[in-house]
Amino acid sequence: MPKSDPASEEQGRAALRAALFVHRRAPLSRQLARRGLGPYRGYGELLEAIERLADRGAQLSLIGRSIRGEPLLAVHIGPARPPGGGDRPGVGHPALLSHGGRRSANGAPPRGAHVGGDAPGGAGGPPANDAAAAELAGRAGPLDPRGAAGAGPLDPRRAAGAAPRGRTTVILSGIHPLEWVGIEANLALLERLATEDLGGRSIFAVPIVNPDGLLRVEMNLRAGRHRYVRGNARGVDLNRNFDAGWYERGLVQRLVGLVVSPGSRPASEPEVEAIAHALSSRRIDRALSLHSAGGAVLYPPAHSLWPVADAAEHRAFALRVARAAGRRPYRAMSYVRFAWGIRKAGLEIDWLHDRHGALSLLVECSRGRLGLRPSRLVEPFAWYNPRKLDDATPPLVEAVLPFVKGARA
Ligand SMILES: [Zn+2]
Repeated sequence: MPKSDPASEEQGRAALRAALFVHRRAPLSRQLARRGLGPYRGYGELLEAIERLADRGAQLSLIGRSIRGEPLLAVHIGPARPPGGGDRPGVGHPALLSHGGRRSANGAPPRGAHVGGDAPGGAGGPPANDAAAAELAGRAGPLDPRGAAGAGPLDPRRAAGAAPRGRTTVILSGIHPLEWVGIEANLALLERLATEDLGGRSIFAVPIVNPDGLLRVEMNLRAGRHRYVRGNARGVDLNRNFDAGWYERGLVQRLVGLVVSPGSRPASEPEVEAIAHALSSRRIDRALSLHSAGGAVLYPPAHSLWPVADAAEHRAFALRVARAAGRRPYRAMSYVRFAWGIRKAGLEIDWLHDRHGALSLLVECSRGRLGLRPSRLVEPFAWYNPRKLDDATPPLVEAVLPFVKGARA
């Protein structure tokens, strides 16, 4: 598999290692198991899982930093990607630049305020042509760290230049701090995708969109505090901060916004801005965002009562995923219907659909089956995450696989 940008790759790895150095802790699952909360992994363990994906040939890139300086890591699987995580060559990410010179919250010096500037095949590289793109697509088989099997030497400059031509599937999780089953499903899905032939398709995944929120939940869990956490470090609900109908928020949402902030403007939060920036030059046709719980496969719109133009196609995929997602099928409907007709602006699925034209699904993983254990009833973590992860994630991975691989409805 061609490495398009060793500098960017090294930057992602370095950021991950620095975060691991700070956050490596005893396995969280031991504590959670005693309280009947399931086998969930803490932040450090999740970073280790991301590192293992990279060891197997997935590429990492640092697309930004959270408010508290945690790395926002994108995992790439498939053909070579453009330098700097998907952006115009030669332009550094403003969020990364703004961290240059000062140390991040975890004490590690932020790496590379300079992203993709001198990446091979950037602005000065040879122009990509369809033949090169087709050649790349043909060579991009299942992940193989030794390189594309049987393929001759591939000019790295051409690999970088040709990358944006292929189609991209975006997979997000961990936007809401308590919804850990979505992160586990995302990582299981990425492990699966690493063994699949993706043709010319690229996977762009951000398994932990909101690391600050996740760390806060982890600290609460380790301390035995039962707290509800919804936002990032500034208390902004990141899934109300995307640039989708944001200025047309209705009265209900403005009132709700007094309790849980949608941010000061669209993409005001570094976590959302980093994703928007990294995806700005990609051709995204599929998007999946993994939340929990509620056993539902939802599609746009969230911010409007009018069906989207491609509602039938969305519905067909949503139904297909819903039927395969669990022993009892999930529900499938538009987000606004799921929300009883209350319009919600700033959601990722609306942004990915409206801005990028992607078929976009939001999966509410698992159903909140609490049972009668008092330790679960008073613990918000249990409202969102099933006790048995093995029942929830494997069928879900299989259910979404054709969609993320670009199958037709
Ligand atoms: Zn959510």
